[in-house]
Formats: sequence, C-alpha cells, structure tokens
Amino acid sequence: MQVLKFGGTSVGKPERMRQVAQIVTNDAHSKIVVLSALSGTTNALVAIGGALALADKEDAKTKIDSLRAHYAAFIEDLLSTKEKAAEAKAIIDEHFEFLRITLKISFNEALNRDILAQGELMSTKLFTLYLEEIGVNAKLLPALEFMRTNEEREPDLELITEKLEAILAKESDASIFITQGYICKNHKGEIDNLQRGGSDYTASLIGAAINATEIQIWTDIDGMHNNDPRVVDKTFPIAELSFNEAAELAYFGAKILHPASIWPAQKRGITVRLLNTIQPEAKGTVISTATTSEDVKAVAAKDGITAIKIKSSRMLLAYGFLRKVFEIFENYKTPIDMITTSEVAVSVTIDDDTYLNKILIELEKLGTVEVDRNQTIICIVGNFVAERKGVVNNIFEALSTIPIRMISYGGSRHNISLLTDEGFKVEALRNLNAHLFDL
Ligand code: ADP
Ligand code: ASP
Ligand code: MG
Repeated sequence: MQVLKFGGTSVGKPERMRQVAQIVTNDAHSKIVVLSALSGTTNALVAIGGALALADKEDAKTKIDSLRAHYAAFIEDLLSTKEKAAEAKAIIDEHFEFLRITLKISFNEALNRDILAQGELMSTKLFTLYLEEIGVNAKLLPALEFMRTNEEREPDLELITEKLEAILAKESDASIFITQGYICKNHKGEIDNLQRGGSDYTASLIGAAINATEIQIWTDIDGMHNNDPRVVDKTFPIAELSFNEAAELAYFGAKILHPASIWPAQKRGITVRLLNTIQPEAKGTVISTATTSEDVKAVAAKDGITAIKIKSSRMLLAYGFLRKVFEIFENYKTPIDMITTSEVAVSVTIDDDTYLNKILIELEKLGTVEVDRNQTIICIVGNFVAERKGVVNNIFEALSTIPIRMISYGGSRHNISLLTDEGFKVEALRNLNAHLFDL
C-alpha cells in the first residue's frame, strides 16, 4: 500500500482537485490519500481563532462569512450533478454552522484547535464526494479515529499503528482510502494538530504505521530544490537525497517538508518521493537510504532563532557546567538547535522562545548571559567527508560579506550550520547559490 499526500495548493482549486483524482486513480495500487485543507483555509481559520481570542466577534463573523463564500463557489465548480452538489452544500453548511456557533460560546484553546481542524475535515469530505461522482469507490478514514499524540504533544506511533491496523483490517473492499492530514487527537482525547504544515508528518506517520511501499508528497514544486526558491532566483530540483540530508533540510527551514516529517519514514526505511501535482511527469526528489557522493547538496535557512551566550569564569575548571546549562533547557522542554563552546563561554540557539524569560533567570545564576534575537540559521547540507578539502573554504568565501555569529561543523557529516542576523539571510542564500552551485 502507498501513501500519497496532497498539500493545500494541490487541492486549492476545483481543477486541481480533479487532477488529484486523476493521479490517485491512475494506477491500481491500493493507497491512503492524505489531504491538506484547501490553500488559504488554515490561515483563515487561524485568523478566525485570533479574532475570537480578542473577543472581536464582528471581525470573526466577517472572516467566517468570507471563507464560506469561497467554499460555496468551490463546490459549485467542483461538482456537476444536482445530487452531489446538494450533498456538498450540506457538508459545508454543517462545518460553517459549527464556526458560527463559536461566535456564541466562550473561547478557549481547545475550541481553537477544533476550529483549526475544519479545513482538513471539509477538503477530505469534498474530495470523497467528487470521487463518488466520477464513479470511483473510495473510503473516508477519519484521522481523528487513529492519529494520536502523547503528553508531550508528540505523535504516538505505536498507538497510531495499532488503531490504523484495526481499522484497515475491517476494510476489505476499498483500495483507495482518504484521510485528513494535520489533525489528530491528543492524550486527553481532544482535537489537536501536528502544527502548521503537519500533513506531511501525517503522511510519514501513516506510511510507517502501515509499512507502506512508498510515501509520496505531492506539492506545487518539482521536488526539493538546492536552495530556497522563495528568495533565490535560480534553483534546481535535487534528484536524490538521503534520509539524513532530507531531515536536516526539513528541520532547518526547507518549507516543502514539515520539520519532523522524515523520521517515521526513515525508521521503517520507506522511500519518500516529492512530486509536483501541476507537473506530474517531473522526476521530483527521491529520499531513501542511498547516499550519493556530492559535497554540497542544498542550502536552507531557518528564521526566528534566538542565540544565548552564557559566560562563566568558573567554566574552565568546572566539569558539569554544560550539564547544568542543558538541564535548564530540558526543564522548560526547549530544544537547542546549535551549540558552540569556548573555554569560558557557551552559545546555544533555540527557536521556541515560549519560556525564554524563565530560562534566562535560571541561566543568570550560572554566569553572565547575552541574548541575540531575530537570528537565522543557514544550513548547508551534503555529504561532507573530512578528507575532502575546500568545501569549508568555498562556504566562507561565499559568505565573506556576512557577519557570522556562530559556526557548527563536524557534529554530523551532513550539515554545516552558521548563525547570522535575519537581515543577512537573503544575501547569504544568494551568495551561497552563486559560489557553491555556480548559479
Ligand atoms: P504544500 O501546501 O503542498 O504542503 P508548502 O507550501 O508547504 O506546500 O511547500 C512547498 C513550498 O515550499 C514551495 O512552493 C516552495 O516555495 C517552498 N520551499 C522552500 N524551500 C524549498 C526547497 N528547498 N525546495 C522546494 N521548495 C521549497
Ligand atoms: N493545513 C495545515 C496548514 O496549512 C496543514 C498542512 O497543510 O500541512 O498548516
Ligand atoms: Mg506544506
């Protein structure tokens, strides 16, 4: 069985959704199709939740009405039979009725997550309806029945596997299953989600749970590019990546993949293919255990980073100092991305600054603390073998005009990371493109 995930732009217009139907019915493979919400929907739902949080009901209502109008036009174009059009209208009526009720009840975080789930719930129902209309036998599997997270808000792969196996064991006649990306239930049984862009993660988790033959991530670009196409003009798709390389790129800002979406596939050794819905014949990117030999494969950047330096004259003699530093971050469940040390100081970076103030109060007990906000990690990914000379030299030549705050090299052979101020990101990515890829 394969897993095929289609992102927001792949289902964002009626003609795109029809094309997705073509892709999923193109061969006889049995498959689970994971869908995102129609493009723009989750942003709209975030904005509705934001207005409700501010108790601005009028603004929330305007936003709900405008989203409803978008869906009304969408279904009118998507479905051609009267019967299915009426069913589609009943579906959107039900979900928008729920959104209207949120205007009348008290707002809280759990309700906000219910609101955020409406996009994927609608897209999957509408797609299933369209497949029915064109005579394709497909079965909707509600993700809320099997996608689970634990107390840490991390997916519980064991429980997901158990639940999904039980559901699939009862389904013998369908060969196309449709389910929602992004949404799940948490350990308390409330509706939750896998964070923005989480449908990729859903696809990978389902792939691992059913031991899929392949996981395909269909999006609006022909695979993982060597650099961020949103800021650099000349970029090109990379034919092959190893799991480690893809994981580093996803984690360090390549938006095409959710930051955590590689590990489930990697755990089971399931090939991931990145493909383009608009150009289905393009080769895309294959992510697998295979490692190819090039030096530099790609560059990515992750914004919104905070750098923290802890200086202590006692560090020189004090073993256990780093443990104390790390413990503070651990206590506040805040992951560290980069770390560099000297004899008297240690610098770390974090991207989740929810508990920053509390962390700083504790760190100040260990030494002098300096904080730099609005930093960017520039990550260069490839297969860096220590004996190959010149790679690092090329990188520094490319970045000769960029002030670099931290450097991390040698932690793994797949990644060289540098920290700079956000204002230098575009220049850094463009210079690296010119120097490392001759573009
Ligand atoms: P989807 O809605 O299908 O999940 P996303 O918008 O999340 O799509 O991801 C695809 C987008 O990721 C592309 O349109 C592109 O702008 C962006 N992107 C950023 N970095 C890269 C990269 N290195 N390679 C390809 N796409 C990238
Ligand atoms: N719809 C969700 C989002 O926009 C999840 C996804 O598209 O992957 O973040
Ligand atoms: Mg995405």
